[in-house]
Amino acid sequence: MEKNKLKQFIREIPKCDLHVHLDGSLRVKTLIELAKKMKIKLPSYTEEGMNKLVFKDQYRDLPEYIQGFGYAIAVMQNPENLERIAYEFAWDNINEGVCYVEVRFAPQFHINKYMNIEGVIEAVTKGMDKAKSEYNNTQDVVSGKFPSFEYGIISCAMRSIPLGVSDYFDKFIEVHSSSPSSRVNSLASYELVLAMIKARDNGLPLVGFDLAGVEAGFPAGEHRDAYALAHRNFFKKTVHAGEAYGAESIFQAITELHADRIGHGYYLFSEEMIKSRIIKDKKEFINRLAQYIADRRITIEVCLTSNLQTNPKIGTIKDHSFRKMLDYKLSTAICTDNRTVSKTTVSKELELAVKNFNLTARELKNCMIYGMKRSFYPGSYIEKRGYVRHIIDFYEIVEARYPDLLP
Ligand SMILES: [Zn+2]
Repeated sequence: MEKNKLKQFIREIPKCDLHVHLDGSLRVKTLIELAKKMKIKLPSYTEEGMNKLVFKDQYRDLPEYIQGFGYAIAVMQNPENLERIAYEFAWDNINEGVCYVEVRFAPQFHINKYMNIEGVIEAVTKGMDKAKSEYNNTQDVVSGKFPSFEYGIISCAMRSIPLGVSDYFDKFIEVHSSSPSSRVNSLASYELVLAMIKARDNGLPLVGFDLAGVEAGFPAGEHRDAYALAHRNFFKKTVHAGEAYGAESIFQAITELHADRIGHGYYLFSEEMIKSRIIKDKKEFINRLAQYIADRRITIEVCLTSNLQTNPKIGTIKDHSFRKMLDYKLSTAICTDNRTVSKTTVSKELELAVKNFNLTARELKNCMIYGMKRSFYPGSYIEKRGYVRHIIDFYEIVEARYPDLLP
């Protein structure tokens, strides 16, 4: 397989990203510029310095990986900055041929005297819409030659509230000082869903609810009420699970939190990660769960580079459980997680997947199509079908130009 031909092919096919954090995907140049303006202390004020000290190629562990988010969140504290960051993010996607993206972030990190939850989502929407309308008004999109750029917003609750990152969360903890932290976490996510309902009903393209943050020690069950409320109000649900815990965490996300998709799901097949004594036959439990996930088309948002960075003990990419997911015929979508923190793009992730797991042409196409079909598309189902059809048709036109590239 010719290397450059593969790159070119991946550049041309229509792509989607269902799992990408806005605060992990800022342009480093923008971060530095905004930090200077806001007098926020950074470890370096050059791109080279930030890439060496914060946004690394490899990380020791998850805590080191999440260090960069603190700096990003610090500059995402007014509507102008949020709008600009969202606008640039949308163009970074458009420029590599990503036509559908679901951008996620935790609005509660950005609340202050300038914005409430709805204001935060509104600012991001403005930036995304600006890029969308610029691109969708270009000749090739208007004529129908290229699919339009579309997006949805996923709002993240935090498994546990980190201290000292946002005024809102610090105050939230303070006013609930008599409650145990598990109760405070659950109250905060419930409050978020209430605000999401209002924002969505006011016309903002809010499509999904997610649970993010450190998994170990903070069970998803604490957020059961918030997920039930989101479920009753027709939000789609995804949960970061199986990133630090195994199959039980994924099981809980599906059965108790009504997850339509799973973020990462990396440890799904790892028997040693199952801790419950109730599960006697771990192999059988994993097998049944994998069958259920496959049959219900619960999509796994696979983030290869990010998984290797937060779990260095995985070893090399070939040891990643993605191959097993494919063998079980799970519905998987290749995602970036964080464009800046993981120094990646959708194209890079697809290239990694093709090269390391010997994807066939069909497997690669399935990844894109499953992603689109299981997306939380903001329009009606009829509109979604039309859009997905356009993407498939366009994919096939590109594919026909590279007949023997993949087996
Ligand atoms: Zn994530």
